[in-house]
This record gives sequence, structure tokens and C-alpha cells, in this order.
Amino acid sequence: MCVYLFCSFYVRFDMGVLRKTKSVKIVLNEFAVNSSATSVITLIERLKSEMNKTTVYRILEKLEDDGVLHSFLAKDGLKWYAKCRGCSSTTHHDVHPHFQCLECGKVDCLKTNFIIPEIANRKVEVSQVLLQGKCEECYSIVS
Ligand SMILES: [Zn+2]
Ligand SMILES: [Zn+2]
Ligand SMILES: [Zn+2]
Repeated sequence: MCVYLFCSFYVRFDMGVLRKTKSVKIVLNEFAVNSSATSVITLIERLKSEMNKTTVYRILEKLEDDGVLHSFLAKDGLKWYAKCRGCSSTTHHDVHPHFQCLECGKVDCLKTNFIIPEIANRKVEVSQVLLQGKCEECYSIVS
């Protein structure tokens, strides 16, 4: 999985979809080393010696537009970003739930898909499912 994601970053770079600016590379690197999601606040904090808050926001928005990252809201309404799998600049296919650990705060994309119910006379365009509980590590400490 990681290998594939890694490749798609470089394919995108080669295709010139993203400008290879130093800042974009630094932000992408945060997602390359860490397979779970990262909150905007954490990113800003981690990158504050390299770029300002506005730049982080701008790059994240751009990467989301390009189908490289997707965003969602987690606990306390905080915005998180995670890598996309097979999305493009025209469509995002990230219809998967996210899981947030209430013990350590870690957030992951779950591979499980969920079915959006058909609702009469309505068209669903955005959906977000956030499951909360104990992650693998925190769960194994308890049991
Ligand atoms: Zn996506
Ligand atoms: Zn945990
Ligand atoms: Zn996700």
C-alpha cells in the first residue's frame, strides 16, 4: 500500500500537476513518513520553523484539489488530512470511515467501505463517518 502511494506522489510530480516547491515537498514528506492522518494543528506546529501557517493551509488546500490528500473533521471539530488512494484532481473516492483513538488521539483511514443509503428525493454529495474508540495499540495494552 505504502509503495503504491509513494509512487503516485512521484508520478504526480513528474506530470507537473504540482509545482516542486520546497514547501510542498516538506508537507508531502510529513505524509510519506506517517501512514496515519495528521491534524492541521499538528502540521503547523511541526513545520513552524520552515513555513508559516498560511503557507501550510494553502499547500494543504492545493494538495486536496489535486487529489493527493483528503480532509475530514475529527474530534472537537479539528480538521485532519490523510493521503488519498487513486483520487484525481477531478474526483475524490475517499468514501471510507475514519477511526480516532480516544486514548492516544491517533486517527487512521479505515479500509472498510461503507454504503451511503439511498434517500428519496435527496442527493448525497459529501459524507463523513468518524468512529471513535481504542486503536490497536491502546486496545492491546488494556486486554
Ligand atoms: Zn481523495
Ligand atoms: Zn490509541
Ligand atoms: Zn481517509
